Amino acid sequence: MTMMSVEVPPEVRPFLDDASASIVIGATKTAAAEGGEIPTTDPATGTLLANIAAGGKADVDRAVDAARKAFAQWRRLSPAARGRVLLDVADAIDEHAEELAILETLDNGKPLTESTYLDVSLSAQIWRYFGGWTTKLGGQTLPVSPAVGEALVYTQREPLGVVGAIVPWNFPLMIASWKLAPALAAGNTAVLKPSEFTSLSALRLTEVALEAGLPAGVLNVVTGLGSDAGQALIDHPGVAKISFTGSTETGRRIVTASAGSLKKLTLELGGKSANIVFPDADIEAAAQGALNGIFLNQGQVCCAGSRLFVHRDIHDEVVAAIQAEAETIRLGHGLDEETQMGPLISARQLERVEGFVGAGIRDGAALVCGGRQPAGALAGGHFLEPTVFTDVRDEMSIATDEIFGPVLSVLKFDDEHEAVRRANASAYGLAAGVWTNDLKRAHRVARELEAGTVWVNMYNMIDPAAPFGGYKSSGYGRDLGEESLLGYTQTKSVWIGLD
Ligand code: NAD
Repeated sequence: MTMMSVEVPPEVRPFLDDASASIVIGATKTAAAEGGEIPTTDPATGTLLANIAAGGKADVDRAVDAARKAFAQWRRLSPAARGRVLLDVADAIDEHAEELAILETLDNGKPLTESTYLDVSLSAQIWRYFGGWTTKLGGQTLPVSPAVGEALVYTQREPLGVVGAIVPWNFPLMIASWKLAPALAAGNTAVLKPSEFTSLSALRLTEVALEAGLPAGVLNVVTGLGSDAGQALIDHPGVAKISFTGSTETGRRIVTASAGSLKKLTLELGGKSANIVFPDADIEAAAQGALNGIFLNQGQVCCAGSRLFVHRDIHDEVVAAIQAEAETIRLGHGLDEETQMGPLISARQLERVEGFVGAGIRDGAALVCGGRQPAGALAGGHFLEPTVFTDVRDEMSIATDEIFGPVLSVLKFDDEHEAVRRANASAYGLAAGVWTNDLKRAHRVARELEAGTVWVNMYNMIDPAAPFGGYKSSGYGRDLGEESLLGYTQTKSVWIGLD
């Protein structure tokens, strides 16, 4: 068997060599207080990329302390000056785009085109969007009717304090940016806990942001395990809010752990999103949308369109189009220009996804393509072929559980009402897709779907201005848009007696 070997590009080598000092407190990079390290590997080859610091409670204490000190000045900076810093960070991300994209691809496995045009490009746009908000975050004057005398009442939006941002491994740089840019725009300071699988791009972002003029202590990073560094951040009394993206299971743990301190929470959790193709849709576009909806980022996307509902009349045509394309998707190392799909993040994740494939087969679904690990040069990585099941019934685990891998479950339906009812019969409610050329149906179905985002004749679109988040067990609060900014503020009503 020939194993794939990939040269680490020289532009990221110095950073990787230095990654063990990966905790950033103030403007200083340091090792973990207790000295532990966690290996981070290239998921396409299994090669060690770097050892990152295994931070714990002592490191979180120092980071929160630095963030609290910085908060006093950062919140008092004029909105224009604060905005200027965020805009400079956005420009710096663009200037370091190539390097950041390479790091993201090495660490996460996704194709370089995705890292470049999605993760890094969108991250810069997000910092820019929120940089523009600092000068627009105003309050209101309110028409009150006091029982006695007169009063002027106005509101102002104030920052919360130190925000703890805990992020997953699927879009490491982008999701960190979703949380940090609005939190900082509103005048908060932050401690970031990246995923132990993918800490590299967030660390490089922090260095780049500090070089671009972000004051020391405004953004601190503690790498490490969720059970150590993550838990310490949740438990820290000096943290005002936890903004979390990750699994529903960890989300529940955070809710329980924060009950004592009543920390504010934003939770972006799992999904099992329905993508519905009506018989009046453009079939070719719908098939492309279904492929993009499930195979982007190897299916490790919280809003992946993993349940594809297809009307009976067009079912076979849609499945044939999807199969034809899925079988040609080229797996490989993300740095290889020809690669269309990379590996899963870890051996454990691969095993989990394969477990679902096995369950689908045992439950009687029809495996149309994929379901296997590729042999040959790719055998050293965590690859799985793009997988499509038909004849899926609603109660099968491949139709109910978040798989977080390149596995599409196709379900047949007969009418609109049934499609909506079955799409909504999920514990999750993160996103949904609708494919139709009937204008009335598009709006009607979009209104009825229980999901935080509904895409019509498109899928997996994200914009800094559009709020993103879940209904039901997919979480609460929103990332992105004005709504996320407001989530990093608290409202004060000020009463001025005029008599
Ligand atoms: P995860 O919950 O295992 O980990 C997410 C983060 O939480 C990591 O940084 C991890 O170290 C940390 N963590 C784990 N246990 C912790 C604890 N006890 N205390 C504090 N922090 C802890 O999730 P993951 O496997 O990294 O990511 C995949 C999940 O993320 C999927 O379920 C996916 O749907 C979800 N996700 C949701 C969205 C969204 O916007 N809704 C976006 C991306 C991913």
